[in-house]
Amino acid sequence: MTYCNFYIDGAWVEPLEPGAPHPIVNPATEGVVGQVAMGGTADADRAVMAARRAFDAYSQTTLEQRKQMLEKLYTVFERRYVEMAQAISTEMGAPWDLAHDSQAECGTGHIRATLDAAKDFPFEVKSGKGNLLCEPVGVCVLITPWNWPMNQIMAKLAPALLTGCTVVLKPSEFAALSAKLMAEIMHEAGYPAGVFNMVYGDGPVVGAALSAHPEVDMVSFTGSTGAGIAVAKAAADTVKRVVQELGGKSPNIIFADSDVEEAVARGVKRCFGNTGQSCNAPTRMLIERSVYDKAVAAAVKAGADVKVIQPTEKGNGVGPLAMKRQFDTVQRYIGIGMQCGARLVLGGLGRPEGFDKGYFVRPTIFADVSNDMPIAQQEIFGPVLCLIAFDNEEDAIRIANDTPYGLAGYLSTNDMAKAKRVAKRIRAGNISVNASGNEYCNPFGGYKQSGNGREWGRFGIHDFIEYKIINGL
Ligand code: NAD
Repeated sequence: MTYCNFYIDGAWVEPLEPGAPHPIVNPATEGVVGQVAMGGTADADRAVMAARRAFDAYSQTTLEQRKQMLEKLYTVFERRYVEMAQAISTEMGAPWDLAHDSQAECGTGHIRATLDAAKDFPFEVKSGKGNLLCEPVGVCVLITPWNWPMNQIMAKLAPALLTGCTVVLKPSEFAALSAKLMAEIMHEAGYPAGVFNMVYGDGPVVGAALSAHPEVDMVSFTGSTGAGIAVAKAAADTVKRVVQELGGKSPNIIFADSDVEEAVARGVKRCFGNTGQSCNAPTRMLIERSVYDKAVAAAVKAGADVKVIQPTEKGNGVGPLAMKRQFDTVQRYIGIGMQCGARLVLGGLGRPEGFDKGYFVRPTIFADVSNDMPIAQQEIFGPVLCLIAFDNEEDAIRIANDTPYGLAGYLSTNDMAKAKRVAKRIRAGNISVNASGNEYCNPFGGYKQSGNGREWGRFGIHDFIEYKIINGL
């Protein structure tokens, strides 16, 4: 697998400034199976200038034309859907059912949600005596991570294309396969040259050059909080818009009046899903003290039921972590948890039984965690769950909010008045009560250091528009 070209101005081109290639490693075997070309600042510039040249014409197409193009994109994406699932499974080790039913599905899901939102989006309305227009923000750089690659790309790309923006995608160097396929799909869908461009590269070189580029109007970034801060700083001198979708350490409050065993099992499954590599994973389970022992037992039982499987296997198990960096990070945090006095009740260091290679880890649960421990404060990004006791509603809210992050919150109770009170006081962008989950039509994004944007549906469209008031017309 050699990914040596970038997609710029409607064609596959060789790097102008090739850096050391990035190895593609199979996370299940640790074998190097290919390489990705890494660009330099000249490649970033070439992609931005292609997007800039295409902007005038593309931004003047009608909304109707852009909707038709998105419909075509949907059709082509659907046709290549299985290939997309294969690409995601290969690059990050996602087991087949997850890659096919959830990861790839984000592509079609976001295109459809954007088209639905476009039906009644107020692109041009009377405001006072004037006319209020929503215009495309301009040339947009999309910087994306590897953990839900198609979710992050399409949540940005679909609204950008709908509003009339042109884009440069810089995918994660660990998610090159799905990004290449995405570029092929864009080409096949017939978008004009320069509307979509894609360069491979690392963050500090290509990501930074794109963020600082004077011809870029907006950077939509998803990734770690540290990298998001670097992007904002690099973008500051040119006063471009920066939208950040960053990390999380989300609380999951289990009240004594919930169906405790069911709620705990659901929380464990949500935390370990995608091998714990989800920004909104409920990694801190806060349990009302009166049912604490029962909940710990239920968590251990549910965690022990989670199977670790190969990416090629069918079923609901968890696969390997996506890369060595994550494997090492997860091992380090499990070690920290053991040293800082938390009680290890499931999993631990090393690989699960029967796995002697690959970035497989043992789904791990710590009980008796105090919220000031590093394992409760820092994003681990692996299947490591912290169980924390609380005394009453006020205490639960205090612990839930005692984090630099604010992406998601989960709570289980059979008292809907309490659910509403607590949901309103958690400082996070997405709250799930009991078994509920996110829908593509609703906003996704964080408070505090989890970011400042809102993606998905009509909220994603808002990110990519400039408002213009024309008085006197
Ligand atoms: P990362 O920050 O290492 O990389 C994300 C992207 O940013 C990559 O394309 C990378 O090359 C680029 N990048 C890194 N440093 C950069 C810099 N200085 N300038 C410009 N670009 C730079 O994150 P990751 O490991 O790929 O992804 C995991 C992180 O993403 C986790 O923190 C997770 O919580 C977060 N995430 C957030 C959301 C959300 O919607 N809030 C969704 C998915 C993932």
